[in-house]
Amino acid sequence: MYQVEKSGEILQENDVLMARCTIDASFISLTVYSFTVDGVLIDTGSQSLYEQFQPYFEKADFDQVVLTHFHEDHTGNAAYLQRKAPIYIHQMSTHATEQPMRIPTYRRVFWGQPETFASQPISKTFTSRNDTWEVIETPGHTKDHVSLYNRNRGAIFTGDLYIAPKVKLILIDENILSTLDSLKKIRSYDFDEMYCCHAGYVADAKKWIQLKIDYLEEIEGKILALSEQGKDIHEITDELFPTRYPIIAASNTEWSPVHIVRTFLNRG
Ligand SMILES: [Zn+2]
Repeated sequence: MYQVEKSGEILQENDVLMARCTIDASFISLTVYSFTVDGVLIDTGSQSLYEQFQPYFEKADFDQVVLTHFHEDHTGNAAYLQRKAPIYIHQMSTHATEQPMRIPTYRRVFWGQPETFASQPISKTFTSRNDTWEVIETPGHTKDHVSLYNRNRGAIFTGDLYIAPKVKLILIDENILSTLDSLKKIRSYDFDEMYCCHAGYVADAKKWIQLKIDYLEEIEGKILALSEQGKDIHEITDELFPTRYPIIAASNTEWSPVHIVRTFLNRG
């Protein structure tokens, strides 16, 4: 077994209460956030970090829970929170929340196995205590992924759409072309603040979203140019993404840059 360290803290940015919890194993360290504003708790963190999230769950004042997508680091404490408030998720995942989530061992070890929970389909808009929210379909990371837009506050909660501008690895079932389309979609909304489940609060959000769009378009151009030179998917991957991140082997290539290259090649 490897050494695991866990930590958590509560932060506040504008009116948004945030929990920032980190799990640190020998081969990787990952941070996951949950947010609460105007009575809406957004994403619940991982089951493995339940104790670290607990002080925040106690402090947060909420009457509904909204999940951006059905992944174990966002739904891990939903079973606990459903005793306090109804849980909403994209309608394509409401049935899935009631069955044991099937996840590979390395992810179960890291994030924990979420307990099943009851959920309700989220509608295109919903209201909280003072605000009206728009639910924007932003597939790519997963098919059921949504972003939550609060026009009053000029804020958007983007789940795992953004994470970082220069993405080097994605999951095998992610679709980077859909991610690119989703980034362009949210770019047209009016907001300054972004709340990302792994990067936390991001000021000057449009700039960072544009950086990611530019980066992905540049990568696509390079992939197609190398392909025209006769290079195959593995040669292109080695050339553009030479770093062998430990997660690639640890996940048995469920996480890999090859999934980025493959999707762009398929379109080209
Ligand atoms: Zn995710």
